[in-house]
Amino acid sequence: MATGTRRDYYEILGVERSASVEEIKKAYRRMAIRYHPDRNPDDPHAEERFKEASEAYAVLSDPEKRGRYDRLGHRGLGGEGFADVGPETFVDFADILGDLFGFGDLFGTRRRRSSPGRQRGSDLRFAMSLTLEEAARGVDKTIRVPRMEPCDACGATGVEAGTSPETCPSCGGRGQVAYRRGFLTVAQTCPTCRGQGQVVRNPCRACGGRGRVECEVTLQVHVPPGVDNGVRLRLGGEGESGVRGGRSGDLYVVVSVEPHEVFERAGDDLHMELPISVFQAMLGARLVVPTVLGEEREVEVAPGAQPGDVIRIRGAGMPSLNGRGRGDLHVHLRVVVPRNLSAEQKRLLREAALLGGEEAAPSEGLLERLRRKLANEG
Ligand SMILES: [Zn+2]
Ligand SMILES: [Zn+2]
Repeated sequence: MATGTRRDYYEILGVERSASVEEIKKAYRRMAIRYHPDRNPDDPHAEERFKEASEAYAVLSDPEKRGRYDRLGHRGLGGEGFADVGPETFVDFADILGDLFGFGDLFGTRRRRSSPGRQRGSDLRFAMSLTLEEAARGVDKTIRVPRMEPCDACGATGVEAGTSPETCPSCGGRGQVAYRRGFLTVAQTCPTCRGQGQVVRNPCRACGGRGRVECEVTLQVHVPPGVDNGVRLRLGGEGESGVRGGRSGDLYVVVSVEPHEVFERAGDDLHMELPISVFQAMLGARLVVPTVLGEEREVEVAPGAQPGDVIRIRGAGMPSLNGRGRGDLHVHLRVVVPRNLSAEQKRLLREAALLGGEEAAPSEGLLERLRRKLANEG
């Protein structure tokens, strides 16, 4: 979801500008647990979020840097925020996160800890409704998503703070027990610890030992121009938090585009109806129509235009999702016949009709022709 401009540090951590050091620490801890690269291997989005949060924390947890940032924004930090993060900050990270991830290895080789019971979080689906204009321009939307988040109180371990899991007494930590059946020795998953090798005597009270709690989170979604109904935007790692260190699921934002009062969409093309007067249809006219992006385009109505004629304006439709070009705008002419003509207008129109060799009342002529045709056939 990179947007080019640098995001506000407070926004990244989701805290108020007046947040206390403790609140900042807590917010960072929550994000670090969720987005840590060890828990989201091969997920560049999570890694990006993690770095972003770390950078924000490094600045906001330092009173001097925070003061400069508050006064001058990103400029106050001399550009490269993350390059400013000194090694002492990492000591601080380790302090914050404990030894959950083996912090020393963070930016070197990553230790992958395989822990039993680790489970990936579920994917989530979020329905997002857009206006046609938003779909055409692209938009950054803030959404609120309810989901399972790592439990703060126990650092997502499910174990009450100050206690630790004990080695399972039934299997001695192996996760399997052997029993005899006749001559055979059969290995079986330990029923006491369900194969995890450890038992938790004191589950965390905040999350009931699940390591996750239900939260509502605020997320920024960048919607690119040109999306249509059913387009799915994937936000890697923004689904449900994993269980016991498992990686997070993904969030799929499913787009639906509301009907528009002027434009009707067909792929990248748009269709609209343009009412013109019968005089404009007869004499031709140069008119201006709006596009979905708010531009104005000229439409040339040729003299003698017929109701239902379609004028195609190239490149005035929807931007295409692949970023290349735009569809066309099809302008459907609707000829409006005036209902109340003045006596003078009527006189002039009759004259014009006669000049064109037409009878003043063409419907009578049509009636005559029909009668003749019927008589001939009969
Ligand atoms: Zn907990
Ligand atoms: Zn066991």
